[in-house]
Amino acid sequence: MRMKQFASDNYSGICPEVLRAIKEANAGHAIPYGEDEWTQKAADGLREVFETDCEVFFVFNGTAANSLAISHCCQSYHSVICGSCGHIETDECGAPEFFSNGAKLLHVNSSGGKLDLVAVEDAITRRVDIHYPRPHVISITQSTECGTVYTVEELGSIRDLALKHGMHIHMDGARFANAVASLGVPPKNITWKVGVDVLCLGNTKNGAAAGEAVIFFDKDLASEFDYRCKQAGQLASKMRFLSAPLCGLLKDDVWLKNARHANAMATRLRSALKEIGIKEFVFPTEANAVFFMMDRAVADSMSEKGWRIYDFIGGAYRLMCAWDTEPEDIENIVGDLKLSLAERAGSSCK
Ligand SMILES: *Cc1c(COP(=O)(O)O)cnc(C)c1O
Repeated sequence: MRMKQFASDNYSGICPEVLRAIKEANAGHAIPYGEDEWTQKAADGLREVFETDCEVFFVFNGTAANSLAISHCCQSYHSVICGSCGHIETDECGAPEFFSNGAKLLHVNSSGGKLDLVAVEDAITRRVDIHYPRPHVISITQSTECGTVYTVEELGSIRDLALKHGMHIHMDGARFANAVASLGVPPKNITWKVGVDVLCLGNTKNGAAAGEAVIFFDKDLASEFDYRCKQAGQLASKMRFLSAPLCGLLKDDVWLKNARHANAMATRLRSALKEIGIKEFVFPTEANAVFFMMDRAVADSMSEKGWRIYDFIGGAYRLMCAWDTEPEDIENIVGDLKLSLAERAGSSCK
């Protein structure tokens, strides 16, 4: 069998429940462009999960979801405040600016992936003159790019700040399920109840092949979003194949089961790394990521053994667990890392 990687949770495949839902959706014909029963069922399922009447749209991937959601909250002369390691800032090739016709991302300090609210307020109030792109949206990622999770209280503070300055809140929820699994709170407590206007809910990393939901809790804000999706090439004609996966994930709370599993595996991985002598962990493991420091030579040796490991945030190396990570996969990678560390220690003694 091919070895399972830890480079990202999107190395994983499609989970069985999603595959089954796709297969069911594939039986026969259905009305195109989102008028089908699967899309209706997925949207209703989300309204149940979030316990509110929200507007739901499906797009292909996370970049499209974030960019279109953000552009719909903005005029082209507005600015969007995000963290310096935010996916929208570092990994979307300028798509949020492109789709909003020039709205500017203002990235501020974040610590462990969480916005520094003093820096956010400074960015909002620094200038009020006409020459400065007018701050209009605060964008946060839950769970964060650093594998941490905003608490309900922290989100409450962001809401207070947004209210004070009349800002919208956008949430990048590529790993939203991992945050819910980690906090063990109802999804509404970390979204519309804390002022989130629009959530981009990721399904891909949590067991789907593609298809992310854009959920507007502020229904007025959703007005004409369908046109924006169409214009951006994001209105799938066979929409059911983007929405049926979510039906598979929502049924029997598979989305939470998958996320809980990934989170638990990350905790297990972290302990296993500690046991073989990894000392410097960079962020707390609150979701499905583990960040730690190791010598480049050790990383190179791991790469020779066939492991793909990304180093990015803060120069740390990142390992991610997915819905399908098994204890034996952890044994495999940690076993090889132990060997690589030993090789390194041996060579440095010579
Ligand atoms: C994976 C990810 C996305 C979505 O990325 P796409 O490759 O565009 O699907 C968005 N935000 C974060 C934080 C992610 O990790």
